[in-house]
Amino acid sequence: MMHIRALEPLMLGSWERECLSSYVHRLAEAHCVNVGALMQIICGSSQDSQREYAGWRSIDFGCGFSQICVEALASATGIDGLEETTLGSFARLCVILGGHRRHVAFCPMCLDEGVDCFRTAYYPLIWRLRFYEVCIKHRTLMATECPHCGLGKLRVFFAGGRNGCCSRCRRWLGGGTSALEAGRPAQLERSVCAAELVAVSGLERAERVNAETFLSDLCVEQLNENRGMLRRAMRATPFALGPALIQPTLDNWMAFCEIYPDGLLDLLPRRPIPASLGKNPAFLDYTRLRGRRTLDHREAWLRIEDVLRNALNEVPPSKPRDVVSRVSTSLTTSSVFRKYPELARAVARRYNEHRKNEKQKAGK
Ligand SMILES: [Zn+2]
Ligand SMILES: [Zn+2]
Repeated sequence: MMHIRALEPLMLGSWERECLSSYVHRLAEAHCVNVGALMQIICGSSQDSQREYAGWRSIDFGCGFSQICVEALASATGIDGLEETTLGSFARLCVILGGHRRHVAFCPMCLDEGVDCFRTAYYPLIWRLRFYEVCIKHRTLMATECPHCGLGKLRVFFAGGRNGCCSRCRRWLGGGTSALEAGRPAQLERSVCAAELVAVSGLERAERVNAETFLSDLCVEQLNENRGMLRRAMRATPFALGPALIQPTLDNWMAFCEIYPDGLLDLLPRRPIPASLGKNPAFLDYTRLRGRRTLDHREAWLRIEDVLRNALNEVPPSKPRDVVSRVSTSLTTSSVFRKYPELARAVARRYNEHRKNEKQKAGK
């Protein structure tokens, strides 16, 4: 067994942190071995085949194989925090679904700057996200083609692979020699939002944020538990509203940023949720448009049970709809039936029997 040096991943804790595949390449270089050989030593793969190289590219995605690699590498190198080099932590904040880049995308200028700064080429994790269309440092479109041989699908892993080299002609991808196209403002905005989420997802364990807890806290503390309002504000589809409230996509977060212009970086890691959010005109407008859910909504829910019980002793019995509207116009009868099925049904049963008796009396 070969002795593995404790090499630190670059830029951990920032939005520019290194991805796991890039780390593995640097680790191989530091030990003067082929990256395929290193993967075999660490992950116990048996052969050095083309198919295996293609499968390894998923080590950045935070899925099953990626976790196995992280564990194997962590125990071989003794380095903590390697899971931050995969997209697993990003997935706690944002749905990736099809947003993984299967091939290399790069910014030639960033590659050069990485060499200037660290004396070695590296790939940031964010380059593995399709959402990141524009380099937010240089405002140019991410390149996906080799400027020398024109290869369009640059492989992440290949025999003798190195960071920043084309998988066919093996030449250096940096240099910024090719004319780079500037990104459109909308693409830049998306990329900034992705970078903010990557930054938040790389925070220390203690400050870790998770979309689900953040949004449900926000809902409870600021929005009177009005999930529909939050969903509309984030322009999320009803399908995104499950038991876990919402699994936001990048577009949902971008819609959220329009409402809360301080940016996700300021908002997400901070507890408690800032008080100004609930008074935001966008949210108030939504309340007004809906017209149904007002501030007494929660109080109405607290009172409805007692009111239903009292209605059971009423003579003559009242219609369930009238009983509910006594408490608040913001409650619907069907929602009350869902929440208190037995009580509400008992009220309805009494009223129906009463009506039946009335009819019989009238018939006689
Ligand atoms: Zn760049
Ligand atoms: Zn090439």
